[in-house]
Amino acid sequence: MKPLIIRQATLADGTSGDLYLIDGILADAPAATAEIIDAAELLALPGLVDPHAHLREPGNEAAETIATGTLAAARGGYTCVLAMPNTTPATNGPDEALWLLDRAAAVSAQAQVVPIGAITHDRAGKRLAELSALAESAAKVRVFSDDGACVMDAALLRAALETVASFDGVIAEHAQDAGLAGAMACCGADLEACAASHLPVWPRDAEWRIVERDIALAEATGARVHICHVSTLESLDLIRRAKEHGVRVSAEATPHHLLLGSDLLIQSTARNGPDTTYKVNPPLRPTADVMALREAVADGTIDMIGTDHAPHTSVDKGKPFPAASPGMIGLEQALSVVMETLVNPGMIGWPDVARLMSHAPATLAGLDNQGQPLIPGNPANIVLIDPNRRAVVDRERSASKARNNPYHGMNLPDPVVCTIWAGQVTYRR
Ligand SMILES: [Zn+2]
Repeated sequence: MKPLIIRQATLADGTSGDLYLIDGILADAPAATAEIIDAAELLALPGLVDPHAHLREPGNEAAETIATGTLAAARGGYTCVLAMPNTTPATNGPDEALWLLDRAAAVSAQAQVVPIGAITHDRAGKRLAELSALAESAAKVRVFSDDGACVMDAALLRAALETVASFDGVIAEHAQDAGLAGAMACCGADLEACAASHLPVWPRDAEWRIVERDIALAEATGARVHICHVSTLESLDLIRRAKEHGVRVSAEATPHHLLLGSDLLIQSTARNGPDTTYKVNPPLRPTADVMALREAVADGTIDMIGTDHAPHTSVDKGKPFPAASPGMIGLEQALSVVMETLVNPGMIGWPDVARLMSHAPATLAGLDNQGQPLIPGNPANIVLIDPNRRAVVDRERSASKARNNPYHGMNLPDPVVCTIWAGQVTYRR
């Protein structure tokens, strides 16, 4: 591994200086010979960590693979992604988790892949997956989720919380009451707007009633619960109050819920029928929720940014709207959107970005080799950022296999210049 010197980068705290990378570690002095990267105009942040990515392998390699998904991650400034277990087979136990790690190594993944375990076997909501075995395995699984599905059986969720509490694990909930939302739900606008567009409504309480239930169960068991992709201001109020009462709840916001509103779906419906690009779970919400979510990131109610990178084939996205797969890709534009919605308007600073997109998700997963400040002795996981560059997003220029990119055609910040994972350059513009 060739030593690197990153010359005169500015760190999140505004100080600047040289970074010396030797054998994957930040050193306090340069190697005798090293490649030099001039970073005089650039910011250096700890490599980003995504707490919520769908890599689709094994089982749906037509949509994404570990190779293509981690390449997209590297392009987005990520050095680590937590892989959701809604694969085929699901990450039910150590066999599947270790397969994922082996596969990542075999395909030379361009970011660290950390398996998230299933809460229930095959995410079917009937019986618990091998939670303790996953935690005790060499994969050291710490986060568990049935993402894509909500654990509707409260007794089963309580049992899962009690189990993970014994090893300080986390239950990451996809908060969507299956009964209230219904199978075809897709429209997150207000009731009248959904009715006028003849779109099946995904009601707000289908989210916040689950958030309320999960907070109560976390409080009762003392376990940690993490609410994925929060979309409504009611959920934010519940999480805010729970934190004030000392409940061990954390929450994430997606880039798409921070930038895009339900008006996009309603307008596309009025023009030429609903655009499946804007179909996502939970759905895009009205402007009041989008603004509340930004406020919640700024005030600390939201702990971290999770991309919910959800690649789909054009076949699955090209079906009639009710049958089309929900989800959007997001790894490559996550930092762009966070800059556009939060940094550039002055709501958060770069230390907050490092916390929200690197340190907090690494801590959630119990990782000590990611999310660390850029000081000697720490792993050399770095993203170099040009904060002034912008570009029009072109979905055809993605490293992801998928093209369900909701930012296509938008002019956004285009900040990532170079990504370095464990001392190796994984992306360079
Ligand atoms: Zn989800």
